[in-house]
Amino acid sequence: MQESEPIEQAGAGVPDNFQRLWTPHRMAYIKGENKPVGSGPGDGCPFCEIPKLSDEDGLIVARGTAVFAVLNLYPYNSGHLMVCPYRHVADYADLDEVETAELADFTKRALTALRKASGAQGFNVGMNLGDVAGAGIAAHLHQHVVPRWGGDTNFMPVVGHTKVLPQLLRDTRELLAGSWPASA
Ligand SMILES: [Zn+2]
Repeated sequence: MQESEPIEQAGAGVPDNFQRLWTPHRMAYIKGENKPVGSGPGDGCPFCEIPKLSDEDGLIVARGTAVFAVLNLYPYNSGHLMVCPYRHVADYADLDEVETAELADFTKRALTALRKASGAQGFNVGMNLGDVAGAGIAAHLHQHVVPRWGGDTNFMPVVGHTKVLPQLLRDTRELLAGSWPASA
């Protein structure tokens, strides 16, 4: 997974604290790396495995009692994070009250952290439920929070790099964890 050198990239957008984290490495995702082999929690579901890792290794920004916030390994944009329940559940309608409330609370806190850390000016927030809706990992629901800046490019602005840059994601995680508010 180790890319040799961070690559300088030209890109549109307003400079922010993430600097040159402009590297949505979507090809690895498209090729199916880290995809679960089935729909059960024991089938290599990354959202079940990630909480077992340290915050640094799992790129976890914050942990709650029922949900956690984690950076997307294949971001649409710098700072793209996801809020997921710990429980392996596919349908939003199946979340219990505690999960529902904390997922909303963490989504609000994610907005605050991203504004503080990166000056995000807007967001795309939401879920893809089901394969037909475009969910990458449909078996374990996750709320996307994608920060946007004026002048940034739409999805997939940079193609051709197939590996993530672990160090840059780690720096982003640290920034966001440090900006994570104690309450929404
Ligand atoms: Zn899972």
